[in-house]
Amino acid sequence: MATPVKGRPPGKRYLGNTNKKEVHDLHNETPQCQINEIIAAGHAVVFDPDTLGQAHREGYDNGAYCIGGSKR
Ligand SMILES: [Zn+2]
Repeated sequence: MATPVKGRPPGKRYLGNTNKKEVHDLHNETPQCQINEIIAAGHAVVFDPDTLGQAHREGYDNGAYCIGGSKR
C-alpha cells in the first residue's frame, strides 16, 4: 500500500508522485526528479513493501531520470 509523507522518508528508497503516478528511486535521485517539489506539493507517497514491483502493482510508472524504461 502507499502512504502519504510530508517530508523525506528516512530509510525508504522509492517515492511516488500521486499527481503524475510516477515512482522515483531516491538512491539514484537527479535534479529533474524534483523530489522536494513533489513533497512540498503534498504529492509524495511511500510504498510498503518499499520495492519497485510494489509501485508498479499500484499503477505507478518509472521516473524517466532516476529509473528509466517508462512503461507508458
Ligand atoms: Zn526520479
